[in-house]
Amino acid sequence: MPSSAESLANLPLREDLVGLAPYGAPQLDVPILLNVNENTHGVPEDVHAAIVQAVEDASRGLHRYPDREFTELRKNLAAYLGHGLTADQLWAGNGSNEVLQQILQAFGGPGRTALGFPPTYSMYPLLSSGTGTRYITAEREGDYAMTPEGTARAVRDSGANIVFLCSPNNPTGTALDLEVIEAAYAAGEDARAIIIVDEAYGEFTQEGTASALSLLPGRPRLLVSRTMSKAFALAGARIGYLAAAPEVADALRLVRLPYHLSAITQATANAALTHAATLLSNVEAIKVQRDRIVRELGQLGLTPAPSDANFVFFSGLEDPRLVWEGLLEAGVLIRDVGIPGSLRVTAGTEQETTAFLTALRRILGPAG
Ligand code: PMP
Repeated sequence: MPSSAESLANLPLREDLVGLAPYGAPQLDVPILLNVNENTHGVPEDVHAAIVQAVEDASRGLHRYPDREFTELRKNLAAYLGHGLTADQLWAGNGSNEVLQQILQAFGGPGRTALGFPPTYSMYPLLSSGTGTRYITAEREGDYAMTPEGTARAVRDSGANIVFLCSPNNPTGTALDLEVIEAAYAAGEDARAIIIVDEAYGEFTQEGTASALSLLPGRPRLLVSRTMSKAFALAGARIGYLAAAPEVADALRLVRLPYHLSAITQATANAALTHAATLLSNVEAIKVQRDRIVRELGQLGLTPAPSDANFVFFSGLEDPRLVWEGLLEAGVLIRDVGIPGSLRVTAGTEQETTAFLTALRRILGPAG
């Protein structure tokens, strides 16, 4: 039998997709999963009960298509975000990945380019190629930071139609100063570039790190995406969203599939948002473990990047593959993001974090 890769070569795949690898974080059956930046605390019991009730109610209407405009969800999202946002400025999809894809469908495509600043979220190039958008990159500074000047130069020189700014950035955890976003926006004036600030990890930021939501007034090309997969502990429900000028939602209506958010998804999201405070109660505990990981990895002689997210990226490993495998053997799955000498770990519960740090200490040995 030919392998499926050989069989794939027999199909008339689009030329720009030939040779690409799909998104591929391994899904392994391991006791401690710290590899895809989920909220490992789970959903609190009373919120779970509210979701089950909402889904039960919604299931009685499953013979009908859902509200295509997810009106209640947009109201709830606007109320959650604050910043004076109104429901017509909100949009949602099946995970923020779908929202990002819709943005590329509406504003990218053949003949257009999207700019990213690696190392950054691995889906930006894949979503770009999937929509026929050329993906180009620009450098970060040595410590993964970005400056207003460097960012503005990259945006201007590239003439990109779409710019991905990930803050806090996956996989490094680095947040962007608002000046960087303002500079990117101003530099994209000539090309009328769409500036996307991906704030998937926005709830985990350090004190003093501001959200790009505050920059939305007067900036119709600025889009801020968020997700319920991380802080809200709802990765399995697939709910991501976007805040922007109302006309951005009009653009996305042109490319979304009709009724793309199921009645079950909408019911889940609405119940969760009604209980947002309880659902987010574990965020502080996760931040404590995040800061503990940074501190203890430093004590082990490694180089953790400062993190505004629910994960820590660390360098200084002689053989990251060996460390990754050693951790897996100890029942702890973390992420090899393919950057030399480095790995990334999600901040889990206190117990999970202890298990990770204990196993790592053992693997690295007394010399640390
Ligand atoms: N943006 C970033 C930076 C992410 O890390 C992720 C998930 N890993 C996403 C977007 C997409 O998340 P989701 O589709 O679950 O909302």
